[in-house]
Amino acid sequence: MKITIIGTGYVGLVTGACLAEVGHDVFCLDVDQRKIDILNAGGIPIHEPGLDEVVARNRAAGRLQFSTDVAASVAHGDVQFIAVGTPPDEDGSADLQYVVAAARNIGRHMTGFKVIVDKSTVPVGTAGKVSAAIAEELQKRNAAIGYSVTSNPEFLKEGAAVADFMKPDRIVIGHEADETGLQAQAVMRQVYAKFEENGHKIYWMDVRSAEFTKYAANAMLATRISFMNELANLADKVGVDIEAVRHGIGSDPRIGPSFLLAGCGYGGSCFPKDVQALSRTAQEYGQDLRILAAVEEVNEAQKQVLGAKVRSRFGADLKGKHFALWGLAFKPDTDDMRAASSRVLIEELLSAGASIAAFDPVAIEEAKRVLALDFANRPELLQQIRFVDSQDAALANADALIIVTEWKTFRQTNLASIQAGLKNAIVFDGRNLYDPALVKQAGIEYHAIGRAVLT
Ligand code: NAD
Repeated sequence: MKITIIGTGYVGLVTGACLAEVGHDVFCLDVDQRKIDILNAGGIPIHEPGLDEVVARNRAAGRLQFSTDVAASVAHGDVQFIAVGTPPDEDGSADLQYVVAAARNIGRHMTGFKVIVDKSTVPVGTAGKVSAAIAEELQKRNAAIGYSVTSNPEFLKEGAAVADFMKPDRIVIGHEADETGLQAQAVMRQVYAKFEENGHKIYWMDVRSAEFTKYAANAMLATRISFMNELANLADKVGVDIEAVRHGIGSDPRIGPSFLLAGCGYGGSCFPKDVQALSRTAQEYGQDLRILAAVEEVNEAQKQVLGAKVRSRFGADLKGKHFALWGLAFKPDTDDMRAASSRVLIEELLSAGASIAAFDPVAIEEAKRVLALDFANRPELLQQIRFVDSQDAALANADALIIVTEWKTFRQTNLASIQAGLKNAIVFDGRNLYDPALVKQAGIEYHAIGRAVLT
């Protein structure tokens, strides 16, 4: 099938590459010339394990092309996936300007029946807005051309995006019940035919329910994290090991073991913005989601937990103190710095006068870019942070090590080398990577999240 993907970011590029992998003829469009140039030169503009191979294989097979040519992109695909960003607006609602712009482009250029697929995470009712934008453009041209808008939210996780897309837990597709809607359903069944053949189930539903499902999933996951973080903070006070509790409750099939890790808060491009956007939708309908307000509040506070632990150990004034920082990305296996907990910690430490030597296996360049924006009004503070090219290099002369991202390489580190590398053998672990008993044996003072009984 001929498929166009509008927006070649994390979701669009992975979707495009993986749909080419199952044999479709895919055209990826982006307005960002830099990204398209990198892709056409054989590079990959983001860090995503395994993606380079899929892209290279399918480009070589002639099934995957990249361009900024809007008219050509609309002409190419009978199916047009919209996978552009939906960042939070000032009031927390999803900013739909890129989605609507993509829809207008389709309306402006289409000459035959199109199935439009909202792949971006968008609030309930967005398919209607996409449909209206296309109708307006068609009307301007006096063109009567059929189309149907479907919703196919994406559940991939950055860092495991290719595997998640190729072997999805589920595929959710919302379509209209009218004649063109049923035509669109048949087209979507073809798009995902290989996935169904491989046993991956499609959940068919109405469009609004599909749009809502994505927010419900992310809100549920964020709730589990904030729930465990609140319990972890209490565990620190009452002398309980939150890791033991996690195993104890996760073995109950009604609860399940995933997404129960306490830590220094969730970040990324999805949970924070999707929780906010769902809350905003609820407000619009006059029904506040009180649990979600708490989830967000707890998470904002949790991002400050490491800073608070550092201050309670070293005092509020951190002038003259030097810290090793391991992990900048919001989670491992990605260079994504959006809403990363490291940004809150860095701001706190630098403002309190500390200096930092920071290491991340892949996110250093992105961190430099993002921190330059964060500190645009106080650029002098950035003199206090240095980026180093190995985790060991970060340790030299540090008063303590602070771990923010759960990279495997940090988890696998020999504790003796941490002890030997630091000036003071003190570790603040925002991701509970180590066994506290072993850390103690290695002669390290250990401050983790919700494990006070053992440290
Ligand atoms: P991204 O910022 O990485 O990519 C979006 C791309 O769209 C950018 O490259 C941008 O230049 C391009 N773009 C913007 N307007 C355009 C237009 N009119 N025409 C063509 N290209 C245009 O964003 P992302 O992380 O891929 O997220 C995309 C959507 O998918 C969001 O709604 C997000 O919530 C959702 N989502 C993201 C993830 C994730 O893990 N990143 C997972 C599931 C769902």
